[in-house]
Amino acid sequence: MHIDLNGKVAIVTGAGRGIGREIAVTLAREGVITVVTDINESNLNDLRQEFVQQGYQGSQYLCDVREFGQIAEVVRDVEQKLGRIDILVNNAGVAGGGTVDTLQEEVWDLNLDINLKGTFLMCKAVVPIMKKQKSGRIINAASFAAIVPSYGSAAYASSKAGVEQFTRVLAGELGPWDITVNCYSPGMIPTDMNHFAELPAQQQQRLLDTLTLRHWGKKDDVAHLICFLASDFAGYITGTMIDVSGG
Ligand code: NAD
Repeated sequence: MHIDLNGKVAIVTGAGRGIGREIAVTLAREGVITVVTDINESNLNDLRQEFVQQGYQGSQYLCDVREFGQIAEVVRDVEQKLGRIDILVNNAGVAGGGTVDTLQEEVWDLNLDINLKGTFLMCKAVVPIMKKQKSGRIINAASFAAIVPSYGSAAYASSKAGVEQFTRVLAGELGPWDITVNCYSPGMIPTDMNHFAELPAQQQQRLLDTLTLRHWGKKDDVAHLICFLASDFAGYITGTMIDVSGG
């Protein structure tokens, strides 16, 4: 079995660092023309250098997923230059917390605006192109937190639960155009979002003991799933939430 993604065009949001960067680099390594977006210019420049050094095809755009004007500009430019968009990975996300009585309204809004509304706005811009093509793969970042309630995560968990249901609804809307829409739900993958690997050893162990596999996930565990979902092998999978959580 060989996953052939060569020559496909992908947009990956929030790809300046963490899981998104790993997804972008993995797709590019598979021959995908990979358009990456983020709000962090210095991380984007760093990624641009890696693309140049490795001879990967793609481009980088400063783009905030909360701003439809910026998104529309990127999508227009990609369509003009590359003619199509095969894969959209809505990875950009933030995780702000606090118990409901202490949670700041702005933190609630930030979680909902970036994680949920940002996913909607990206889809709103890209779906018309995928409909014209009568094909496409939309892959959204949900989270284990959408299912398992964790202390102080109301804003983040609610936004990710929203992403899951949005995914099911969109899958139903886009089925007739052969566009699939799925979610990946990471569990505990050490990144700059959560700093799991920097916690005191005892605290790390307490978290790891909650996992069936008893070890942290890796960013490429997610990237490999994305490659599968974007490939022909996953053509009959839509409206699903796939855990990458170590059980
Ligand atoms: P991260 O914080 O390392 O990376 C998130 C990226 O999104 C950053 O590059 C950031 O600049 C970008 N971003 C933030 N706001 C943005 C905006 N408004 N517009 C565009 N880009 C923006 O996080 P990560 O751990 O790599 O997580 C990636 C995705 O996976 C997120 O959606 C996250 O919620 C989800 N997730 C991660 C884990 C985990 O264990 N790491 C678990 C569950 C879900």
